[in-house]
Amino acid sequence: MTETQRNVILLGAPGAGKGTQAVRIAAGYAVPHISTGEMLRAAVAAGTEMGKAAQKIMESGALVPDEVVIGVVRDRLAQADAQKGFLLDGFPRTIEQAERLDAMLADGGRLVTHVILIDVPEDELVERLAGRRMCTSCGKGYHVVFDPPQSDGVCDVCGAELHQRSDDNEATVRSRLEVYRAQTEPLVGYYEHRGVLKTADGGGRTPDEVFVCVEQLLEGD
Ligand code: AMP
Repeated sequence: MTETQRNVILLGAPGAGKGTQAVRIAAGYAVPHISTGEMLRAAVAAGTEMGKAAQKIMESGALVPDEVVIGVVRDRLAQADAQKGFLLDGFPRTIEQAERLDAMLADGGRLVTHVILIDVPEDELVERLAGRRMCTSCGKGYHVVFDPPQSDGVCDVCGAELHQRSDDNEATVRSRLEVYRAQTEPLVGYYEHRGVLKTADGGGRTPDEVFVCVEQLLEGD
């Protein structure tokens, strides 16, 4: 792995495996994994004002207002550990967020270096989301069929209970996929136009197989 700075965005529909790949990328390239979904879920769990406002929106599958998420990301990217590269997972999700990200990075003489789109067919996304489980304590993700824990319902890493995300139910999944197509997919064209978009085929492959491809894409300029 080279010393080039990597300011990476992971793009892809809900269930495409962004979080799974993000953990591997963050470890392999020593960049902080910045997940807006995780930060919002932490705010909900902590019962902050932002969390209270975001909770209902998240449970419906809609997007939290741009202003809220942009503020969260701005603060996070200003922290010391994000100065030598970062990995954004779940942000940007709208053209407005992408433009504001470009502007905030440009202010610090930075730019987005890699955008990796993880491409997965819609049928597979629905199947993955329905079987997805998450550790209530450390946040590690599992799948009941494709990546089950050693012991049913219990996290391999910390032993805490696994649960299903409240927005992984069928109705909310459908609306999250619609929101993705309408509001987030236009970012593919946005980043293609800037010459930074690379696509990893994430359909019918194991997380390790997808990571091999992601690594190749990150090693390119
Ligand atoms: P995720 O964990 O990325 O699937 O995000 C879960 C939920 O958090 C989404 O369905 C949205 O309601 C909210 N969320 C996460 N990231 C963003 C974002 N960049 N913009 C707006 N809402 C977001």
